[in-house]
Amino acid sequence: MRQLMWFRTDLRVLDNSALLAALQAGPTLAMYIISPSQWRAHEDAPAKVDFWLRNLAELAKSLRQLNVPLLVRHTDTWAEAPQLVRELCHELDLGTVRVNEEYGVNESRRDQQVAATLAADGIHLESHLDQLFFRPGSLLTRSGGYFQVYSQFRKLCYQRLHSALPSCLPAPRPQADLGIVSDVPPTRVEGFPTPPDSLRQLWPAGEDVARDRLDTFALEELWCYEERRDFPAQPGTSQLSPYLAAGVLSPRQCLHAALQGNQGEFDSGNPGAVCWINELLWREFYKHILVGYPRVSRHRAFRQETENLAWRHAPDELAAWQQGRTGIPIIDAAMRQLLATGWMHNRLRMVVAMFLTKNLLIDWREGERWFMRHLIDGDLAANNGGWQWSASTGTDAVPYFRIFNPISQSRRFDPDGRFLRRWLPELEHLDERDIHNPAGLGGLFGVDGYPAPLVDLSLSRERALAAFRNLAERSEQVAAAPPVGLR
Ligand code: FAD
Repeated sequence: MRQLMWFRTDLRVLDNSALLAALQAGPTLAMYIISPSQWRAHEDAPAKVDFWLRNLAELAKSLRQLNVPLLVRHTDTWAEAPQLVRELCHELDLGTVRVNEEYGVNESRRDQQVAATLAADGIHLESHLDQLFFRPGSLLTRSGGYFQVYSQFRKLCYQRLHSALPSCLPAPRPQADLGIVSDVPPTRVEGFPTPPDSLRQLWPAGEDVARDRLDTFALEELWCYEERRDFPAQPGTSQLSPYLAAGVLSPRQCLHAALQGNQGEFDSGNPGAVCWINELLWREFYKHILVGYPRVSRHRAFRQETENLAWRHAPDELAAWQQGRTGIPIIDAAMRQLLATGWMHNRLRMVVAMFLTKNLLIDWREGERWFMRHLIDGDLAANNGGWQWSASTGTDAVPYFRIFNPISQSRRFDPDGRFLRRWLPELEHLDERDIHNPAGLGGLFGVDGYPAPLVDLSLSRERALAAFRNLAERSEQVAAAPPVGLR
């Protein structure tokens, strides 16, 4: 029976669960659906869409070598997907459609609707585990719920990895030519402007490039990851997130590259490898949270009581944060890195997110949206998880009273100001003492055009603490009040 492999965020041929299963089951065709309005509704960044398209073009080449024709179809939203897939199955006599699972609410609903439509015609939709090591729902607490605490989740992950390590799949073998002509993937989609070459060149497409980057990282950087990962001026992290988010690399490939450099150990041995595998497990954790607590997929706070927080409406301050004009160098440098490269260092994502949600007391959803609109690695689960962690509204989040001071963070993690100078040329002439806090020079430092700080860091910190304290008191009052019927 003919198979249809429906590619989404799994743009590779190696270690691809659904593709291999399709090729083993019968003659296979591949499909990709372009859905501009859906992507806009998800705030997918133009840089990310461009990255998808460039990787799709590379995927088309790899599929050609396997004699798998690639069909590119268009629907405005996923609402039209069931009908489109159904018609394609009839047109090309396809008996099974295979997909790798995706975990957002809209993604799950789309797949359920496609499965139901196909089932009515006797066509099967087969879903495969591919984006994760463990299927959501297969790692639960003793009481049968999804984990809310990362360290407990990780402990169970370690046990499972010890008993059954997920292995990479064998490379697929070419099939006989089906005589079906492939479509040429588009190079751009209306409404998603092509990013500048300077950005595109940072993120070359294709699984060969991705695997080369992974191998180089595992060989040269992994051993010192733990020491260097927090310093944005150093090449201390893998920068593989765009490839993982688009599925150009699989998490299994990443895991095995790390294990290779650590005698097969994931919870002991080289601290760099252990720490990096930990990050892969954070990725896993947030995707499980997405499934276990679907409200986060709808941009609701994980800790529901924080929905009552008195966030400020401050559009000018939000715009200054977005454009890197807050007058706090580390914030501005990080936000400019995001706009120029589509990526931001993890330490800085935490620092800018905490500044927005605590010092500016602006709703984390504004930051989540801005990140999604600009990140080339934008991923609902990781982005939401990171924002809710920083805003103290999420699962296992930072306690609300632990507010980073951005200037101390800057001094600690960019001690010589190298990262700041890279992104803030107007501060280039300041020495490593003054560059972190030019306002400390009292306006006498001759920095033309660089703004004064948007907020006083200690006053704004107190304001945030008060807002969170009020919230806690209100929750206690509600909890202490007698049930409504007894009043
Ligand atoms: P490495 O340090 O090399 O880590 C390896 C991989 O592990 C990453 O590529 C990523 O897939 C995963 N990973 C690492 N840290 C985390 C984490 N904290 N949570 C989940 N996965 C992680 N990551 C995204 O992939 N997409 C996002 O949209 C995203 N938004 C974020 C927003 C905020 C506010 C914060 C605080 C974090 C966000 N992260 C996001 C997590 C993290 O910042 C990035 O994954 C990391 O910076 C990517 O760089 P890297 O590939 O060099 O990571």
